[in-house]
Amino acid sequence: MSEILVVGGGLAGLMTALTLSHGPYQLKHFQCQQGDGSGETIRTTTINAAGKRMLETLGVWQQLADTPTPIETLKVANSEASTQIKARRRKAFNLEWHGQDEPMAFVVKNATLLVALEHQIQYADVELLTDWKVIDFISSNNRARLTIADDRGKIDEVFCDLVVGCDGRGSMLRKSAGIKQHILPHTQTAVVALVAAERPHRNVAFQRFLNSGPIALMPMEDNMMSLVWTLPAQQALKYQTCGVKEFNHVCTEAFGDELGSLFLQSDRLVWPLQPSFIANPTSKNLVLAGDAAHAIHPLAGQGYNLALGDAAVLLDILCDTGARGLTASHVSVLTNYRQKRRLEVGAMSFATTGLNFLFSAMPSNITKIAELGMNLLDQSPAKSIFLSIARGGKLTQANLFEGKMPNQGRGMSWE
Ligand SMILES: Cc1cc2nc3c(=O)[nH]c(=O)nc-3n(C[C@H](O)[C@H](O)[C@H](O)COP(=O)(O)OP(=O)(O)OC[C@H]3O[C@@H](n4cnc5c(N)ncnc54)[C@H](O)[C@@H]3O)c2cc1C
Repeated sequence: MSEILVVGGGLAGLMTALTLSHGPYQLKHFQCQQGDGSGETIRTTTINAAGKRMLETLGVWQQLADTPTPIETLKVANSEASTQIKARRRKAFNLEWHGQDEPMAFVVKNATLLVALEHQIQYADVELLTDWKVIDFISSNNRARLTIADDRGKIDEVFCDLVVGCDGRGSMLRKSAGIKQHILPHTQTAVVALVAAERPHRNVAFQRFLNSGPIALMPMEDNMMSLVWTLPAQQALKYQTCGVKEFNHVCTEAFGDELGSLFLQSDRLVWPLQPSFIANPTSKNLVLAGDAAHAIHPLAGQGYNLALGDAAVLLDILCDTGARGLTASHVSVLTNYRQKRRLEVGAMSFATTGLNFLFSAMPSNITKIAELGMNLLDQSPAKSIFLSIARGGKLTQANLFEGKMPNQGRGMSWE
């Protein structure tokens, strides 16, 4: 039977392996972990409504040890043009979306999500290969050959029909396959931390665009908020190491008075931001998924949601390919994946980079026009389109986003 190999033990790799275990091909998963994963206790992921349906269908949602926090409302604002105006008087949020009949998204702790994925994958039809690092990839005679190495330097080779590369934004597979990537220069760094709010957050997610970069606060249990604060690289390092009292002050001043004072509750992590664009995330015997395929700015909390779309779409494609009796390396897998991911990945990459650039790098008169645009959008019927995109499943159609498993095609392998 045709074989697929998923590489990467992060949130995308685990979820992709679990998803594809419901497909018609034999599956192996390389789960090499790098780093101690300690940052995952502080980081959170906002998962949109379509992503939640997918994780429910895969049985992951039910395994989450902490109840995810629903986002009922999203408030967006831009900074005051004048730096003279003190933060306590910062303008209220110009744009507001309400979830209507269901929450638009949910905030999940990364550590909790990892544990739930690891739990579910134990029961999946996947051969797990832990502690092997992939060091080379070659496609030859329509087969992929991976060279792998373990901690003690032992080298081996594995062969398969299709490799699914979820090996992160520095993807070795992408480099080995010569897939072109356009990387923006590193000028901004995100400070990530948990903060407590003086006033109740009422399940509102906040995004404020400042000249220095966007500051986002996502609601969590016990009136905690997950902070992702984009800053010029040097300033981020300064705020990572300054005293807690100073941090609380600058953070509250930057965000404004909506939640009263903010109080740091965790270590501060820094994340150098370097969005990149990949026009074609496929090459012979290889498809890229997750951050290996698209490392976008975290301002809209969409990176992992894109990874969910990658996996859901790939499962549909592979089920269809299997039903037609083709191998997983068939050229239609690559072309369909490329075409079906283009719209959503392109739109999110463009929107996140564009918004960040508009508010952080443009002169104040242009920012003023953008502010006017925000105010107009708040009154316009187009606002509801943004809500349905934010909920997911609008720019990508996939069975799992509708809470359904695709029909499995377990045909004979022939080409
Ligand atoms: C500050 C911040 C906040 C974010 N917030 C959100 C959010 O709210 N919502 C959202 O949807 N997204 C969010 N994102 C994006 C999201 O975190 C990422 O899209 C997601 O974590 C990427 O997962 P990944 O598995 O693709 O990559 P990674 O987490 O980088 O994992 C890559 C894996 O591949 C393994 N690997 C690497 N090289 C090899 C190799 N050669 N051989 C074998 N294994 C290898 C690594 O060990 C690792 O396990 C945020 C990102 C940032 C930076």
